[in-house]
Amino acid sequence: MSKLVIFTAPSGAGKTTIVRHLLDQYDQLAFSVSATTRQRRPHETDGADYYFLTREDFEARVAAGEFLEWEEVYEGQYYGTLRSEIDRLWELGKCIIFDIEVKGATNIKNTYPDQSLAVFVKPPSPTVLIERLRARQTETEASLQKRIRRASEELTYENSFDAVLLNDVLEDTLRNAEQLIETYLQD
Ligand code: 5GP
Repeated sequence: MSKLVIFTAPSGAGKTTIVRHLLDQYDQLAFSVSATTRQRRPHETDGADYYFLTREDFEARVAAGEFLEWEEVYEGQYYGTLRSEIDRLWELGKCIIFDIEVKGATNIKNTYPDQSLAVFVKPPSPTVLIERLRARQTETEASLQKRIRRASEELTYENSFDAVLLNDVLEDTLRNAEQLIETYLQD
């Protein structure tokens, strides 16, 4: 059976670092490249980090039913998982790994309840989360404020997932994430 591993967390909790690490460690895993209308950051590559779409293109694809799930994560910024991306990776025989916010994660979990592992990455405290978001310096102050508000709300969802992974000391987190994946891939 084709499997899915969904990593979700408030922005800044460290899920992207964890997902990148797991992709390096396990050949069976492949990253689900999401579509987004947000601006590309300088280090990002179209087609690898995201499919960067215009708002018009994104909306047309929503209307055509091309998305498995999508959310307006921040005002005016859409993110979504294209059905074609899932098909592409399953055709390659991969276990798909997602880096996605909590509502999208819940939708994917509900679509594939018996073939997915959904992991909530938890920061040690809300204060640490805000410090990490600030330290990243990829956002304007307004965008940062949006992220902080949303992150506070997202922290309340931890009990809706299969596992909670505390991200305090990164080395420990990565070992614990490996354990979760190995157990899941073996089943
Ligand atoms: P960022 O702009 O920092 O790359 O991502 C913002 C948020 O959107 C993160 O929580 C990220 O995990 C989430 N996200 C990325 N791709 C998707 C997607 O396809 N669907 C949903 N629902 N959220 C996504």
